[in-house]
Amino acid sequence: MNENFDYIVVGAGSAGSVLADRLSADGRYSVCILEAGPGGDSFTIRTPGAFAAHMFLKKYNWAFNARPDQKLRDGEPLFTPRGKGLGGSSSINGMLYVRGQKEDYDEWEALGNEGWGYREMLPYFIKSEHHETLSGTPYHGKGGNLHISAPETAEYPMSEAFVDAARQAGFPCNSDFNGANQEGVGYFHLNIKNGRRFGAADAYLKPAMTRQNLTVFTDAQAKKVVFEGKRSVAVELRHKGRDRVLRANREIILSGGAINSPQLLQLSGIGDRDILENLGIRGLHELPGVGKNLQEHVDACVLAPSVSLVVQ
Ligand SMILES: Cc1cc2nc3c(=O)[nH]c(=O)nc-3n(C[C@H](O)[C@H](O)[C@H](O)COP(=O)(O)OP(=O)(O)OC[C@H]3O[C@@H](n4cnc5c(N)ncnc54)[C@H](O)[C@@H]3O)c2cc1C
Repeated sequence: MNENFDYIVVGAGSAGSVLADRLSADGRYSVCILEAGPGGDSFTIRTPGAFAAHMFLKKYNWAFNARPDQKLRDGEPLFTPRGKGLGGSSSINGMLYVRGQKEDYDEWEALGNEGWGYREMLPYFIKSEHHETLSGTPYHGKGGNLHISAPETAEYPMSEAFVDAARQAGFPCNSDFNGANQEGVGYFHLNIKNGRRFGAADAYLKPAMTRQNLTVFTDAQAKKVVFEGKRSVAVELRHKGRDRVLRANREIILSGGAINSPQLLQLSGIGDRDILENLGIRGLHELPGVGKNLQEHVDACVLAPSVSLVVQ
């Protein structure tokens, strides 16, 4: 079995699926993507209405618990789901298609990240999508990998009542949270195609898996990135119960998500010196920000007979 690839991508979630597709597209490079979770999918992934099942089933969910915070839920640990398996969190998420706020990208750019401002990002958002009803309008694309559908929730009287109430309370109405203005009340557009979830694996990874130069390992958890000097050269992993080492000729890309990627950096000796020392990990490169400053929104569900409202 090949143990040597040009690119090794760690994590086949939203980001990893796109990377695997793009890097293997021209056929010049061998690309390997490692996914800790299982291959395939399931009825609960495909069926939009079964979304909540993944909050109880652990097969496709890392099901983390955040450290208790006295200000939240009286200090109870906060359940922190994260997807596991092909598509990662896009296989268990709420399928709401909402781009980041314009101001957030502009702030990234202002911090020195050239090319990450909203004006530069917008053409890529448009390129990536195929919008069922808004294709060809200034903010939406046609023919891209990501299928976006118009919401059907508008047909539910409870949803209409909720939107009406917000309107009466003075909130502006908004029919497109990815358009010129993201503020207001309205219906989300969705990553759903023909009534089924259409996650990152459906959009990017699965179509690319027919290529000879793309290798996908599932049940393959990266344990450590190996360095020669300051250059990463290999990944140690546990694959279907067996320890393996894969070497990268060009690059190793971490796309294990906002929680797992910093953890893998720390396991590899990159992070805050005190944290690494306490864990008995030999430090290779001091980078104090690794594993810090994660911001996450709270999700509160209000359940009513035959309808559930999600407030974010
Ligand atoms: C319950 C839930 C609901 C959400 N709802 C929405 C929504 O409605 N709309 C929206 O826009 N966003 C939503 N999100 C957020 C969105 O899904 C994520 O921001 C996005 O999927 C993150 O992409 P990612 O590639 O960074 O990580 P992920 O998609 O989480 O992918 C990381 C992948 O890496 C794998 N991995 C991790 N560590 C390793 C390792 N060491 N070795 C090998 N593989 C590894 C994981 O198993 C996973 O498959 C939701 C998220 C959750 C959890």
